[in-house]
Amino acid sequence: MSSAATPSKIEITHYNVGQGDAHSITVDNTTVLIDGDRKAGKQIRSKSGRITKSSKQIQREIAGQTTLIFIATHYDMDHIAGLDRLLKHVNVDKFYVPHEEYYNDITASAAATLQTADKQGVSKKKVTNTTTCHIGTRQIDVDFLFPELMLGLPTGLLTKNDGIVTKFSTNSNSSGKDVSILFPGDLSVYIQNVLTREQKQELSVDGLVLPHHGSRQNLGINCTEIPSDVLDSIGVNRTENGDLKRQIEEAIDSMGDVKKLKDWLQSDFLELIDPDEVVISARPTHNYNHPHLLTLAALHSSEITPNVYCTYRDGDITWNIDPSGSYSIETQDSRMKHGTKHVLNDALK
Ligand SMILES: [Zn+2]
Repeated sequence: MSSAATPSKIEITHYNVGQGDAHSITVDNTTVLIDGDRKAGKQIRSKSGRITKSSKQIQREIAGQTTLIFIATHYDMDHIAGLDRLLKHVNVDKFYVPHEEYYNDITASAAATLQTADKQGVSKKKVTNTTTCHIGTRQIDVDFLFPELMLGLPTGLLTKNDGIVTKFSTNSNSSGKDVSILFPGDLSVYIQNVLTREQKQELSVDGLVLPHHGSRQNLGINCTEIPSDVLDSIGVNRTENGDLKRQIEEAIDSMGDVKKLKDWLQSDFLELIDPDEVVISARPTHNYNHPHLLTLAALHSSEITPNVYCTYRDGDITWNIDPSGSYSIETQDSRMKHGTKHVLNDALK
């Protein structure tokens, strides 16, 4: 049995909810749920035959916990809609949400979720400054990195994608190695740059959930410096109007093309974080086509060589962290190979 003197195992799961996000951190009888799927209780079968996990199933997994803490990174439906259902069916102790005043308006599904929280008498914590909640036997810190900075920013700079950036870290207070994971939600590049400037030391983590499901717009990849001859060599005409990133992505159709672009696809945010493990939560068959090929090419081209996990390939992805800080990662589908090259190869097919 766990006690304060006996640190417990920690389990972190990135649920395969399709085009959306839902991640849980569990220690002892406490679960923190960061976002909760886009749909209330619906499952979708992907082309490969894999069926996504619904908030109904997440409910079953977390229902028996003594303490439940919810965090909504921001107010987009693919992160918050499923929380509405969960709030109705499980007893939530605290619900952390970004301060509504930061946004011009919030989605209808977000408004409904906040209303449900009120109806259920759930304590809503508006995150307006850096907050830490310790869970378990104080061996886990859950820090909110971004909102503190929001206060000092001129209004109007935040997009609807910005919100709470959660950093999970073990706090062993001993010689054991600590493990940390960053959950940035759909954070925009502008705010990534603010974070990079203001909280640089906080950004070095073991695991990163890729911002915005691997969107090409959300890693700060700068394509404007790519020389014309390199673009020509993959069939992109620089004089064309339109979204250069999209044009490059549409032109990439082989590893050879990625190789030609290798020196030009770096992401400062990614290099700074330098994660050992990268998780992408997405469903490529959705209209948004996340994760974008350009993002995967940038991952492959970077100096870092993380293991890359994707919910759409791997199903649920679970970290088992033992008290000494060593961890293993299990996936629902263990047949998949996790290197960036494999994921990129898969996307090129
Ligand atoms: Zn999203």
